[in-house]
Amino acid sequence: MLCKTDLSRAAEVQLNSYNIFGVIFVNQSNRIRLVEDDITSLDVEAIVNAANNSLLGGGGVDGAIHRAAGPELLAECRTLNGCRTGEAKITGGCKLPARYVIHSVGPVWHGGTNNEKELLAQCYRSCFALVNQHDIKSVAFPAISTGVYGFPKQAAAQIAVRETLCALAGNSTLEMVLFSCFNTETCMAYQETLALLSSKQ
Ligand code: ADP
Repeated sequence: MLCKTDLSRAAEVQLNSYNIFGVIFVNQSNRIRLVEDDITSLDVEAIVNAANNSLLGGGGVDGAIHRAAGPELLAECRTLNGCRTGEAKITGGCKLPARYVIHSVGPVWHGGTNNEKELLAQCYRSCFALVNQHDIKSVAFPAISTGVYGFPKQAAAQIAVRETLCALAGNSTLEMVLFSCFNTETCMAYQETLALLSSKQ
């Protein structure tokens, strides 16, 4: 469901479409940033992991996070008893620059008829609930479900931005949400989404 209050924040979006490396977008209030970078290198309070239901590691961003965090992360994940699709669980960041890792399990894309969009939105809401609970000031997201799980990038970016705008409107102490795009295609999907939301204001 669209959060009207928060969409008003999209008016703040100022898109710099000329520079697609490093920080390629910052909104007026500095609360949303888009970077083309490896999420494991980001110096933020929490990074989100696009995990699988076991929470015991996998490929893609999950593998990268576990490699960078070290075996202590897997040990902590083993105590969590997995995670349902659309939900999220939190651990320490171990050897990462981030203090926390929020593990969330996105839906596998089956063509859009299996409640995939709502489940992806639930992922973001679950992550932001943990951000609120732990009073986290900065959080970075990968493009959950858009890798091996096959979720269309544009549709996923729209959900990510919409839920982020909702979360920011409800949490005045959350200073920064960063979208970590690992490839140019993902960056473009976020850029287009942010531009679209701004043009509707
Ligand atoms: P899923 O199974 O949820 O699709 P993937 O890890 O396969 O998860 O992909 C999710 C997104 O994470 C993809 O856009 C992929 O390009 C991106 N990704 C992969 N490695 C990294 C990384 N180190 N930092 C940030 N994003 C990454």
